[in-house]
Amino acid sequence: MKKVVKFGGSSLASARQFKKVKAIIEADKTRCYVVPSAPGKRDSKDTKVTDMLYQCYDAVCAGESYKRILDQIKKRYTDIIDGLDLNLNLDFEFAKIEENFLKKAGRDYAASRGEYLNGIIAANYLGFTFVDAADVIRFDAEGNFLSEETNEEMREHLASLKQAVIPGFYGAKPDGTIHTFSRGGSDITGSIVARAVQADLYENWTDVSGFLVTDPHIVPNPETIETITYRELRELSYMGAGVLHEDAIFPVRSANIPINIKNTNAPQDAGTLIVPTSHAPASEHVITGIAGKKNFSVISIEKDRMNSNKGFLRKLLQVLENHDIFPEHMPTGIDTVSVVVNSSELDGQREKLTERLVEVVKPDHFEIIDGLALIAVVGRGMRSVKGTATRVFAALSHANINIRMIDQGSSELNIIIGINAGDFDKAIKVIYDMFILSE
Ligand code: ADP
Ligand code: ASP
Ligand code: MG
Repeated sequence: MKKVVKFGGSSLASARQFKKVKAIIEADKTRCYVVPSAPGKRDSKDTKVTDMLYQCYDAVCAGESYKRILDQIKKRYTDIIDGLDLNLNLDFEFAKIEENFLKKAGRDYAASRGEYLNGIIAANYLGFTFVDAADVIRFDAEGNFLSEETNEEMREHLASLKQAVIPGFYGAKPDGTIHTFSRGGSDITGSIVARAVQADLYENWTDVSGFLVTDPHIVPNPETIETITYRELRELSYMGAGVLHEDAIFPVRSANIPINIKNTNAPQDAGTLIVPTSHAPASEHVITGIAGKKNFSVISIEKDRMNSNKGFLRKLLQVLENHDIFPEHMPTGIDTVSVVVNSSELDGQREKLTERLVEVVKPDHFEIIDGLALIAVVGRGMRSVKGTATRVFAALSHANINIRMIDQGSSELNIIIGINAGDFDKAIKVIYDMFILSE
């Protein structure tokens, strides 16, 4: 039995948290590969070390004074080292980091030092071997993750190590330049390590007791999801449920390794088990979870006899592709089509895009409408139960919330609704009430 354990930023934010982590690892000898994040927030007003590193590096690049923020970063680590009574000095590492900052080693290099240094501390404290992720996680020159090369490299490297600490979030390109995953990417590293060592379980330790039915910032104390499938999780993470990086399931999915989301501050709680497939319901409720994101825009196009106009959608999609715009959803009518896109993708190219669309697809009416929020209601139980959509619509209509778009995936795993961004929190609350509280 082998487990890979990833600890998030808040789980490693202070000496006090490190002590909890050690107790968790020592309570189960099969927890043998550890993936740490950089120190996160110690309280709600604190700043994550990753954000401090970006700030510090940006100051260096702008030729502004950076010493104060660098000292603050150093202090975050020395406080942990002192609090754990470790015989460890990071002066040499910090001198090298400062030197590389001044040589403009890159923003990714800068951010990666957060997990690199925390990894050194964790390895020292646990008595495990430190493995630099730059030696085992591979990207190509463009920054695309090389999954198979990494798997081979990691497998070979870890084969001789019974216990190791591999810092999360980063790896290296062929020329040795450090490259990171997107924010929250230590979850992906944990998953990569789990696949490489063929772990029986990937435990992802965070500050909540599992994947919750919805965002705890919107609904206080939402219920915990007991089991969730990879596909449900993808839908929810992609739509904004921040607890696990949306790409973290790919490496473990190919190896059929379950993920257990656990709480460092309440290790006795069962947490959430993420499994390849499940025939059992997630809970006694029809739906598994609710998530959502704001900041979408709708490109709305009307054209008579659109449906009999050969190649119309292809031309439309080609224009969007040429502008690097990815359609999130595309509900169509007989003479209308709406393309839902991330508003940020329109930045700086609204006029050009409008011009080109008018020229190529010659619409009768054309409009870009901003301020849309999307909410995903997700659940493997929806397929076998009638009336789920009706209940979502009833909940919203009782709350006087106007539905601007509806999209149901063909697998009947999700219902996506578009509403005004101003109704976002209220919509999530009333859907939660309808499906969880009143059931
Ligand atoms: P870590 O630093 O351990 O990786 P994150 O901050 O990335 O932790 O993720 C955990 C946080 O995700 C929780 O503290 C919670 O505020 C937030 N969150 C948002 N949606 C959900 C959800 N559906 N279930 C659990 N947590 C959620
Ligand atoms: N430290 C990185 C971040 O803040 C990666 C992670 O925590 O997963 O995004
Ligand atoms: Mg995270």
